[in-house]
Amino acid sequence: MALITPFDPWKNELCTCPSKYSLSAYTGCGHGCLYCYASSYIRNFFIPRAKKDFINRLKKEIKKLPPKSFLAMANSSDPYTPEDSKLKLTRKALEILKNYQIRLMLVTKSSLILRDIDILKDIKHLVVSISITTLDKGLSKKLEPNAPLGLMRLKTMEKLAKITNVVCRFDPLIYPLNTKNIKKTIKALKNAGAKQVITSTYKAKPDNLKRMMNIFRRQDSVWRKLYIKKGSKKKNNIYLPLNLRKYLINEVRIAALSEKLEFSSCREGFVSLNTVNCDGSSFF
Ligand code: SF4
Repeated sequence: MALITPFDPWKNELCTCPSKYSLSAYTGCGHGCLYCYASSYIRNFFIPRAKKDFINRLKKEIKKLPPKSFLAMANSSDPYTPEDSKLKLTRKALEILKNYQIRLMLVTKSSLILRDIDILKDIKHLVVSISITTLDKGLSKKLEPNAPLGLMRLKTMEKLAKITNVVCRFDPLIYPLNTKNIKKTIKALKNAGAKQVITSTYKAKPDNLKRMMNIFRRQDSVWRKLYIKKGSKKKNNIYLPLNLRKYLINEVRIAALSEKLEFSSCREGFVSLNTVNCDGSSFF
């Protein structure tokens, strides 16, 4: 199977971002986010493994990619999963990619990305997307046990914003866990140098909902009511009821616009609310 593949978010008709390719050095991810969607379709997801012969295969495949292609690292993993601190496959990949005319989109939760800032400086067409769900230390630790805390990601964003375009994925919005301090969070993102806020609501899948309910027992009845009784099923995801979903997305939009940030929602069906593309590609 090829390493570089066309990004295909399960043929989701709610996906409106431009066509792009996907690349990941790892199968699985070690950040262990409770809400992770990818764990439902990849075996032993939270035990990441390096892809076989990754660097040699990348060297061959990158030559075939049309110039100016959008290439995202990564869509079903984090390029800076903790294992990369030892294996450095993402760093090695960047060393190769910097020599090609591609438009690179790095998506991560990890401050490990700063290790590679010397290479990132030399990549002409780059957008980095930092994902932040919360700036609350306790919540961050429970939701994303092996990822750096939200505050650390803010600092990472601040450093990256000095050398490249940085956008923030403030998602998923998990009602009611991280939906109370939206204004404050968006202000912090703006101060850290983000140019755009991208958001989406948490979509329940059987495995991620089970993990969430195990840790956040007090939300059990809330989520049962909102997702299982009143939610709407789209493909293999259960969405929050439309009115609540729209309300939450709009709250983020209002806060982002008031901070003069670009805004987009992702796979929600509210394209008219977006000011730019939902993946940061508008900054190329
Ligand atoms: S960082 Fe992304 S891919 Fe990794 S566990 Fe968290 S949600 Fe899943």
